[in-house]
Amino acid sequence: MHFFEFTEEQTMLRKAVREFVEAEIAPKAAEWDEKDECPVGLFKAMGGIGINGVFVPEQYGGGGMGFVGRSICLEEISRHSAGLGIAMMTHHLGIYPILQYGSEEQKKKYLPDFCSGAKIAGLAVTEPGGGSDFSGQKTLAEKKDGGWVLNGRKCFITNSHIADVTILTAKTGEDEKGRNKLSTFLIEKEAKGFEPGRKEHKLGLRGSVTGDLVLSDVKLAEDALVGKEGAGAKIGMEGIGEVGRAGMSAICVGILRGCVEEAVKFANERIVYGKPIAKLQAIQLEVAKIRTAYEAARLLTYYAASLKDNGKPCSNEVATAKYYSTEAAVEASKRTMDLMGGYGVINEYPVGRFLRDALASIPSGGTSHIMQVIMAANTLSSFQA
Ligand SMILES: Cc1cc2nc3c(=O)[nH]c(=O)nc-3n(C[C@H](O)[C@H](O)[C@H](O)COP(=O)(O)OP(=O)(O)OC[C@H]3O[C@@H](n4cnc5c(N)ncnc54)[C@H](O)[C@@H]3O)c2cc1C
Repeated sequence: MHFFEFTEEQTMLRKAVREFVEAEIAPKAAEWDEKDECPVGLFKAMGGIGINGVFVPEQYGGGGMGFVGRSICLEEISRHSAGLGIAMMTHHLGIYPILQYGSEEQKKKYLPDFCSGAKIAGLAVTEPGGGSDFSGQKTLAEKKDGGWVLNGRKCFITNSHIADVTILTAKTGEDEKGRNKLSTFLIEKEAKGFEPGRKEHKLGLRGSVTGDLVLSDVKLAEDALVGKEGAGAKIGMEGIGEVGRAGMSAICVGILRGCVEEAVKFANERIVYGKPIAKLQAIQLEVAKIRTAYEAARLLTYYAASLKDNGKPCSNEVATAKYYSTEAAVEASKRTMDLMGGYGVINEYPVGRFLRDALASIPSGGTSHIMQVIMAANTLSSFQA
């Protein structure tokens, strides 16, 4: 990708996804939000047009469109349903460790089904002891009888109750300084002792399932490991740091575009003093601020995704994009509500949902505090203009 330009292929992808979203997602997004219902059945249709495996190479049934392509899909879905956006983004997050670190057998066995929508994936890292404390995980995987036995609890897990396959990190030992050694496991939903627990009742990103996963003496074969034993910290942090947060950023670009489009529509249609409020300079200033936020978030997000596609380090750029896009989406949806006067708080309009979805996007994948900690560390150690 050029810095500011999408390729012809990427433009065609956007057009195809947008047509699908406008027909299949936009009309039902408010209902999924109200009923907090995840449209699981839609995964096969989304697989059919190449969204599920958009960044997966064609040899495994994917679209080979990289992470810029993936951001396009998430932006388009989340323009209308950020709830479904995070369900899809987490499906991608479950796919990534297998694609990047899995054995050839794992890739051949799972990736085609993930791409087609026959199977749904998830990634479970967070525990009740604090999502920010990634290395402090307590879920334990012990070697027994040539396999593994896992015990513990994960919380706040997207797709918890709908995933057919979950990629999960667990403690498999300690290093010489007493720090946790983590490993990554692949667990199918049928595994004995592996159950979804409580389901969260969320403020936003409704229409995606978020809940606990409980592991009680779950026995896994030796080959349930994804990547090498002890590589869980690297695999988990790379997935969350480069794929999860990038996805949340793209979701918020979708919310921001929704704000621009809804603000323009309302400002042109609402007549006060006998003319559209779009003629009022105060309203024009709001539109300009919302537009600026959308353009800035979009540039940060697609730039970070293009670094990933080019095999360059990107966790700092992804953190920057996630921090900016999520916070900007909160502010822009509040501005859009203000611009709409009383109508802004009426649920017939989607902007209240945009605000709730944007607020829920801030902790998902790592809080704004953590994004700032990452950016500060990078800036203080190696800033170069
Ligand atoms: C909708 C949703 C979906 C999610 N989906 C998934 C998923 O699919 N898989 C998964 O594994 N997890 C998922 N999460 C979990 C998410 O990653 C965590 O919520 C997030 O990492 C924060 O962890 P916590 O909620 O435990 O907050 P805590 O870690 O308990 O943090 C509490 C507060 O302390 C601050 N804080 C913590 N450490 C620091 C620090 N070093 N410096 C400054 N401030 C700090 C935080 O910013 C926050 O304000 C999801 C969360 C949500 C809300």
